Amino acid sequence: MIIVPEREIAALISEEAAYEAVEAVFAAMARGQAVNFPVVREAIGHAEALYGFKSGFDRAGLVLGVKAGGYWPGNMARGLTNHQSSVFLFDPDTGMVSAMVGANLLTALRTAAAAAVSVRHLARKDARVLGMLGAGHQSAYQLRAVAKQRQFEKVVGWNMHPEMLGRLAETAAEVGLPFEAVSLEGLGAQADVIVTITSSFAPSLMADMVRPGTHLACMGTDTKGKQEVEAALLARARVFCDERAQSITIGEAQHAVAAGLIRAEDIVELGAVVAGIDPGRRSDDEITLFDGTGVALQDLAVAAKAVTVAQARGVAVEVAV
Ligand code: NAD
Repeated sequence: MIIVPEREIAALISEEAAYEAVEAVFAAMARGQAVNFPVVREAIGHAEALYGFKSGFDRAGLVLGVKAGGYWPGNMARGLTNHQSSVFLFDPDTGMVSAMVGANLLTALRTAAAAAVSVRHLARKDARVLGMLGAGHQSAYQLRAVAKQRQFEKVVGWNMHPEMLGRLAETAAEVGLPFEAVSLEGLGAQADVIVTITSSFAPSLMADMVRPGTHLACMGTDTKGKQEVEAALLARARVFCDERAQSITIGEAQHAVAAGLIRAEDIVELGAVVAGIDPGRRSDDEITLFDGTGVALQDLAVAAKAVTVAQARGVAVEVAV
């Protein structure tokens, strides 16, 4: 069994590698070659923690595994990350455990990669202004990955807690783009691409704030009850997702579907666009909205890549089982 510790991940997996892994596994899902199993997520009644599993199997890449972990709100006070997760991979021929991989950084990289895949395949080619709604831990990874997908000239950002906007300003500077803090209305009026990455349970961005032709990557809603954008915006948009079953239960689409504003069967899985099965954006005026909930196969794809690179570089720890 191979162990790839969390501390090694940053040197093993680049944004580009995460992008390639996620794009490929989305396409495998669309071709019916890869499947996610139902998600388990439970409050454990200890340390106010939420704990669960996301698992799946990629038959094309022969990657079988599970991401286990969750959210421990008291960790920050102990100098630890609140989100904690590890991926376990298994030999699909025998079921024997083959690897354990630290998955905290991998989670941020694979989430940002999903947004980036949506921008590459769905945003207008002439997109120039990137709008960021949210300035928490994930936002920096999102900004870095998405900024590479178009020739952006500027980043505009809004956050409910303005004192956090420094993170967006610093990350924009890091990727060589000017940053401007704006109102929500200003964000909708200027941005060609909008990434939402908050933990909100009520919509911030309203349907009438968004211009025709905008692409949105809604990445923060990954739990029942969370919501970042008004449900009516999904009715104005062509809606895409990572996986439909998750999108309508724990994603942004849960609200629009429940309100009867859109139909589940009209939501297109992004992998279908990557695989050339769906045309994606159909006109420059169309609003496209990607509902990214985070699927197991993304985690397994980047973890498997980390194992391969770790073995090649000799940094994988081998343990007899
Ligand atoms: P964080 O705690 O570091 O930041 C939270 C962000 O949400 C901040 O910008 C904060 O100002 C904002 N916020 C909090 N309450 C709000 C409210 N009521 N209205 C508007 N904004 C509010 O969190 P993070 O690690 O950056 O994660 C952000 C979200 O992304 C979380 O909901 C997390 O569960 C989700 N997430 C999704 C995926 C996925 O695959 N889709 C993966 C990882 C994290």
